[in-house]
Amino acid sequence: MAYRYDHILIRYGELSLKGKNRNSFIKQLLSNVKLALKAFPTLEFEKQHDRMYIYLHEEDAQKVSETLSKVFGISSFSLAIKTMPDMEEIIQACLESLPLTEEKTFKVAARRSDKLFPIISDQINRMVATAILKNSEWKVNVKKPDVKIVIEVHHDAAYIMTDRMMGAGGYPVGVGGKAMVLLSGGIDSPVASYLMMKRGVHIECIHFAAPPYTSQNAQDKVMKLAELISPYQGEILVHIVPFTDLQLAIYQNADESYAITLMRRMMMRIAAKLAQKRHCQAIATGESIGQVASQTLESMQSINAVTTMPLIRPVVCMDKVEIIDLSKKIGTYDTSILPYEDCCTIFTPKNPVTKPRIEKCERYESRFDWEKLVDWCVEDVKSVWVHPGMELEQEEEEEELF
Ligand code: ATP
Ligand code: MG
Repeated sequence: MAYRYDHILIRYGELSLKGKNRNSFIKQLLSNVKLALKAFPTLEFEKQHDRMYIYLHEEDAQKVSETLSKVFGISSFSLAIKTMPDMEEIIQACLESLPLTEEKTFKVAARRSDKLFPIISDQINRMVATAILKNSEWKVNVKKPDVKIVIEVHHDAAYIMTDRMMGAGGYPVGVGGKAMVLLSGGIDSPVASYLMMKRGVHIECIHFAAPPYTSQNAQDKVMKLAELISPYQGEILVHIVPFTDLQLAIYQNADESYAITLMRRMMMRIAAKLAQKRHCQAIATGESIGQVASQTLESMQSINAVTTMPLIRPVVCMDKVEIIDLSKKIGTYDTSILPYEDCCTIFTPKNPVTKPRIEKCERYESRFDWEKLVDWCVEDVKSVWVHPGMELEQEEEEEELF
């Protein structure tokens, strides 16, 4: 029998902190892993208490690994050779699979999760190392080996691994409930979306478009951003709100300096209604204190005042530089900086109020029937499922969701 790297072993990480929820976390993780990897139909999955295994069959290990590296709830994973829990087989598999003709230093680190296995870890290390030393020019280096051979011996199988890839960390998406994220075309809100998902919160996105003041390009950019973050969740539902009439009404009825604040309050009302319909427990935005004139604590107070739903601002205390670094890391930066205007930039007043007063907001709002306009916005929402790599397929499904 020829031994090869035909398995992936997945370590759970942070999951292990959560005693009682552990089983439901693992179940969610398995279902997320399957969804992420659904393009690889012959994979086989097995979940255990502290590890998950994927049997690769003939699938491309590299591609599977790339996809897996975006699934939250995984601390690390390794390509592995599976053998019987038998020393002869383990040694044989090592000798067959390691590049023994090259000159390398190595170390063996065995772990025996089956305490009934008759040979203790130290002894496994010694036996495997001896065999390698006999059959190659390799030398032992315990402190800084070129190759670290990790061997895990379980009750029904043993796994041999020589690499360890970083997982995405966090919690499996879905274990933390569901939130509606306000996704603009900027840098911050895709990062906020990523951080929500990383905490295990399933997200849907809402975007406010103001055609013809905002272009199709601007909307395509938002859809592209949603697609770029969709691998972290498998798929994302994006709600596009026709915001033009409401925005015009604000400009007709309020002082320009209050326009942004009022617009935010309206966005929040619409988001809250949609969030309720879609069974979300919270709303999230990409706001950050002090980043622009409209993002002050006073402004946040006036925005929060329109809903009792929790408003989460994952990047609220991050520096712009930190947010940019993260957006580069998750791959949204280059799209975020494309120049298309979103609805805020076009209507931006010269002197937005930095300390809006709620009474004043309410006074402006009493001048027009905003409730009707808000309801229309909610009724006319267009909802689209976004999948990784969707652009290639040019596929957009519009669904009856409510
Ligand atoms: P971003 O980079 O996320 O666009 P920003 O620094 O440009 O943020 P603002 O334009 O003031 O900040 O927006 C603050 C937050 O309000 C955004 O992060 C986003 O969550 C929400 N938001 C703004 N405009 C829209 C929009 N057109 N559709 C949906 N959400 C929006
Ligand atoms: Mg913006």
